[in-house]
Amino acid sequence: MTRYTGLIERYRSRLPVSADTRIISLGEGNTPLIQLQNIPKLIGKDVTIYVKFEGLNPTGSFKDRGMTMAVTKAVEAGSQAIICASTGNTSAAAAAYAVRAGIKAFVLIPEGKIALGKLAQTLMYDAKIIQINGNFDKGMALVKEVAELAPVTIVNSINPFRIEGQKTAAFEIVDELGFAPDFHCLPVGNAGNITAYWKGYKEYATERVCGNRPVMCGYQAAGAAPFVAGHAIENPETLATAIRIGNPQSWDLAWAVQKESGGWFDKFSDEQILAAQKMLSQFEGVFCEPASATSLAGALHDISTGKIPEGSTIVCTLTGNGIKDPEIAMKQCADTQPVTIEADLDAVKRAILDVL
Ligand SMILES: *Cc1c(COP(=O)(O)O)cnc(C)c1O
Repeated sequence: MTRYTGLIERYRSRLPVSADTRIISLGEGNTPLIQLQNIPKLIGKDVTIYVKFEGLNPTGSFKDRGMTMAVTKAVEAGSQAIICASTGNTSAAAAAYAVRAGIKAFVLIPEGKIALGKLAQTLMYDAKIIQINGNFDKGMALVKEVAELAPVTIVNSINPFRIEGQKTAAFEIVDELGFAPDFHCLPVGNAGNITAYWKGYKEYATERVCGNRPVMCGYQAAGAAPFVAGHAIENPETLATAIRIGNPQSWDLAWAVQKESGGWFDKFSDEQILAAQKMLSQFEGVFCEPASATSLAGALHDISTGKIPEGSTIVCTLTGNGIKDPEIAMKQCADTQPVTIEADLDAVKRAILDVL
């Protein structure tokens, strides 16, 4: 048994590193694939649903998979600084891996539209935070421009090494199940992740590690659904801030995924997304952030209409940890605030018997 030291070491032969490459890792990847037990019973459908809980990565989102590769390659190329635009999780991951590597991280974030936990993390990791009066799309455009003028490496998912790192999540799923699922559902913002999973599944299928490839289902928030509209959205709005993106950078790649896999895009309201987030917490003990629950909201919808037929095996990616967005969680639980009682045995006994 060798100690687990991150996804680059585990999948070294399938990633662009050499024996001399200095690997920048925090032990990311190897996240649990949890089979849902209560929700399938609740909906009364014969389906097998797994959630790939990416919220258990070192900085709490799947962005760590891409960042270990992107920062490893930036350092290998001699870069002293990285930069990204972010809705929060990319900035947290970039900041953490930059610290690990001993280089600087600059992050552009939309002022007031970042979940509290993500901001706190990024501050703690000591990144140079630049808040802008504008959304992610504006920040992304600025990052591309400034990277032409300053010695900084972009670590958004337009950096191809991000995709290489993120494709390993598909490898892990196949390695664990022994096959690819029938359907793979995930939230779509910039569409880097759906592109990465598909690349991973395709590589394994081509090399006959598995005999099948999944249908890829990309789900968006109703107020930020360019793939459903068929064009960029000027002012994207959703409480699921991680996918509050109107002009996805991997536009063409994601359409190719949809066509090649026979999949589809769809959109769901913030209410549907929050309901799925609550459901996962209260029935399965899995607390993901709002954007992440879009994958389950979509899967449940498509199961109910039969678009995803009974008998299917489905994997939903839960992209980030629920602890990242405590404000939304507290709002979700506004009617179930804790009871306060006197600190004596009788009162505690009564409080327990009240519930049982
Ligand atoms: C980044 C992110 C997404 C969107 O992923 P894309 O690759 O941009 O489509 C979804 N959920 C969470 C929690 C994220 O951090």
